[in-house]
Amino acid sequence: MVVVGAGMAGVQTAVALREKGFGGPVTVLGAEPHPPYDRPPLSKALLLGTAESSAFDIDFATLSVRLRLGLDVTGLRPGARELDTARGPVPYDVLVIATGAEPITLPGTESLPAVHLLRTLDDAERLRPVLGRRQRVVVVGAGWIGAEFTTAAREAGCAVTVVEAAGRPLAGVLPAEVAAPMTGWYAECGADLLTDARVAGVEPGAVILADGRRLAADAVVVGIGARPATGWLAGSGIELGPDGAIVADERLRTSLPEVYAVGDCASFPSARYGERLLVHHWDNALQGPRTVAAQVVGETDEVYDPVPYFWSEQFGRFVQYAGHHADGDTLVWRGDPAESAWSVVWLRDGAPTALLAVDRPRDLAQGRKLIEAGARLDPERTADPSVPLRKA
Ligand code: FAD
Repeated sequence: MVVVGAGMAGVQTAVALREKGFGGPVTVLGAEPHPPYDRPPLSKALLLGTAESSAFDIDFATLSVRLRLGLDVTGLRPGARELDTARGPVPYDVLVIATGAEPITLPGTESLPAVHLLRTLDDAERLRPVLGRRQRVVVVGAGWIGAEFTTAAREAGCAVTVVEAAGRPLAGVLPAEVAAPMTGWYAECGADLLTDARVAGVEPGAVILADGRRLAADAVVVGIGARPATGWLAGSGIELGPDGAIVADERLRTSLPEVYAVGDCASFPSARYGERLLVHHWDNALQGPRTVAAQVVGETDEVYDPVPYFWSEQFGRFVQYAGHHADGDTLVWRGDPAESAWSVVWLRDGAPTALLAVDRPRDLAQGRKLIEAGARLDPERTADPSVPLRKA
């Protein structure tokens, strides 16, 4: 068994294989030189310096899992069942691809030392002094990473301006009416949010916007999304989707024999939602590996069709989302978004497809179970935040 990628999905694949009783050799290859670590703290405690490490608490030696770190896999030759690396070819019988995602850069700024991304431990370590020196920061993108970085930078005392090309935060993810209250969160924490604003260029000490505005900046943090890290698979013949993700089936098998894909790098068909999903969140990188391990040990009945889940800690709030909503779903509000805690539930034919909770973790826990069960909800009761969520 060879796993490419030593992030959450890769490491959990190795752990799940051992939990399922797989006794053969397991090797995990990872490009980063650091012991495998968890990414969510990078935009939270680790950035602020309130945590020193987010390394996984896993004893790989006891699990008999061989880690080969600082090793970039550059190619896959499925005919020979071999991977290419700078240290020579690596053969496999069964391969799991868990190479995650890589952040999208702002074209033309890649070599500028004041322009940062936030994906890796090295990125977070480069950003810590920016917070420590309370520098003036321009954040490009008001998505999940932009919001979390802004929260940390304001907490550290940085002056922060956020430049967002769309008319609101999280435009690609949430409908306008749900994102509307989140706009105010930026001002509340003392950050300037500029919507409908585009970056035209970055100069020493400043970000220039397309409308000519010039924003003073000691550092720039780009959080405009991530795409599956699959470039190294060019020429391998593996099927990739238009989004660059490896096309996996409901058992997380790829188009190549004995090759699986899991985590941020792979999309899978969801019978539950009737569409293919590409999920870039932690829980997917935890759950998917269990399905892969089950397939490898011959438990082939297991299919992967989760209710996706993620959380974000931003502006002193705990934001959680479970499920997957679509445009036609009916939105039901639970509570007033002007208050500190509220939720929204998306219903399709009376059954919940998704739920977003702001500081209402009980709604999330109950809603997630109802979504999993395919229960029907009474919209009127659902709209009453004083009544627990329960099936009709
Ligand atoms: P990754 O964690 O990206 O790991 C992939 C690994 O593969 C990387 O180490 C990479 O170097 C390696 N690799 C890539 N290509 C190669 C190659 N060719 N050869 C060898 N190795 C390779 N999700 C939430 O739900 N809640 C959160 O609060 C949250 N916060 C986050 C904060 C930050 C700053 C970031 C970046 C992500 C956050 N996420 C959060 C998302 C979550 O961390 C990811 O979904 C999860 O890490 C995906 O795991 P993965 O193993 O699929 O990919």
